[in-house]
Amino acid sequence: MLGDPNREEIICPQGHVGGSIPADTPADATITQEDLIIDDGTNHTRDGHYCLRCRASITRYRNGTFSVHTARGWIGQITL
Ligand SMILES: [Zn+2]
Repeated sequence: MLGDPNREEIICPQGHVGGSIPADTPADATITQEDLIIDDGTNHTRDGHYCLRCRASITRYRNGTFSVHTARGWIGQITL
């Protein structure tokens, strides 16, 4: 995954890589499970995933959609 030009890394605010989404995903995109690759260094909860190294939230989940934290900030719309 690392260095794959077709994927953008999901990272926590501390810079730990937790997975990836397709590159060039618009900030207002609808991100679903099939867009995500989540690495082992994360934990999954009902509300998303968090980084096992620093416990920061790296994905948020609502009603089948995700927002994910990347170097660009939070990407993806979720319905609250
Ligand atoms: Zn972290």
